[in-house]
Amino acid sequence: MRPLIPVFWLERECQENERSQNSLSDSIEQNGVVGAGGALHYGAEMLAGLRTAMERVGARRGVIGVKEKYEDVIQALAPRVPQDVEITPLRDVYPAGDEFILVFDVTGRVIPPGGLPLDVGVVVSNVETLINIARNRPVTHKYLTVAGAVAEPVTLYVPVGMAIGEVIAAAGGATASPFEVLVGGAMMAHLARGLEEPVTKTTGGLIVLPREHALIRRYLRSWPAMDRIGKSACDQCSFCTELCPRYLLGHPIEPHNAMRALGFAPDKDRLMMGTLYCCECNLCSLFSCPEDLDPKEVCARDKTLARERGLGWQGRAEDLRPHPLVNQRRIPTHRLMAKLGLTGFRNVGPLEDRPLAPRRVAIPLKQHVGAPCVATVRTGESVRAGDLIASPPAGKLGANIHASISGRVREIDGAVVIEA
Ligand code: SF4
Ligand code: SF4
Repeated sequence: MRPLIPVFWLERECQENERSQNSLSDSIEQNGVVGAGGALHYGAEMLAGLRTAMERVGARRGVIGVKEKYEDVIQALAPRVPQDVEITPLRDVYPAGDEFILVFDVTGRVIPPGGLPLDVGVVVSNVETLINIARNRPVTHKYLTVAGAVAEPVTLYVPVGMAIGEVIAAAGGATASPFEVLVGGAMMAHLARGLEEPVTKTTGGLIVLPREHALIRRYLRSWPAMDRIGKSACDQCSFCTELCPRYLLGHPIEPHNAMRALGFAPDKDRLMMGTLYCCECNLCSLFSCPEDLDPKEVCARDKTLARERGLGWQGRAEDLRPHPLVNQRRIPTHRLMAKLGLTGFRNVGPLEDRPLAPRRVAIPLKQHVGAPCVATVRTGESVRAGDLIASPPAGKLGANIHASISGRVREIDGAVVIEA
């Protein structure tokens, strides 16, 4: 039995000055937002959370993955880590936080297609989760990086349920008009439905961009348009496959084949099967494809069909072989930033630890995988921050939801609305 290895990935840009605690390039990957800045500020809590996590899963060895460019973080942590924990420097490439890639980079082990890190004896967590474990209290707030076209790029401590428009205002407001907001990292975001959209437990960051920005125009493209162009313009160069991080791990995914299957492949099942193992990192669509097509969306849509048809990988994990160039074909973050048109925005800002205090929050009853929660409070009831306000239905898997501010419950309709 191989030892369990918690792997913890730290991410923070620190290129301009020591006070800088967050960056736009951090926001490329959503789960890097508090990252290494958190490790510097809350190192003791992070290590305490790591210790608890290691004890709970019975791990004999812990590994903290930190991008090698964060020398200050590595130097600050190095004297403090216990003997059974080591720090592994990682390259500044995308994707780095994807757990399949992270586990490979740190341990050399390949998680099988459709598998979990535990399949290769590893548990992965991130910095914010470790800090929350150490604090041993419900998740009512999120560290949120607000970047792009805002007056004061910053990482804020935001109550769950706060409207993103108010969060942007706390970052000095948008400097572009009209503008759109990407919720999440630039590569795997969704376009905000509006400024009333609430922050959830899984919101990692906000990127504000002018509406005419190329990345926004890309997010605004409709599927019928991408479908039509994809059928006619894909030249089968296979760059999308050659740079696909999951293909490079040896997984049976070949997005150029999914593109081929889009229009006319008679053996569509075979060509679609690999799409099940697409992690939707968007590298193929936003970086690799010279024709500006959308193989990621094709893979994402084919996944559903492949599941319906009962397709799946039938190979043996021990036969998996990473591509010989797996380490050479990684995309440097600075090149990705340039391709996305993000280098023109301020890349750094401070971390503000004081929680924002909105007058109203709308805390969604569904924020993560599992069944939507059912409210345990009633309209008109008073609640205190941290109180339980919703739980998964009996017998269903999910996570409890807690009040993020103290106040009175005003409304329950898909979300619990609390006014301070
Ligand atoms: S990179 Fe673009 S053009 Fe080339 S095979 Fe993939 S989808 Fe087609
Ligand atoms: S989005 Fe594209 S590059 Fe990323 S895993 Fe899926 S097919 Fe590969």
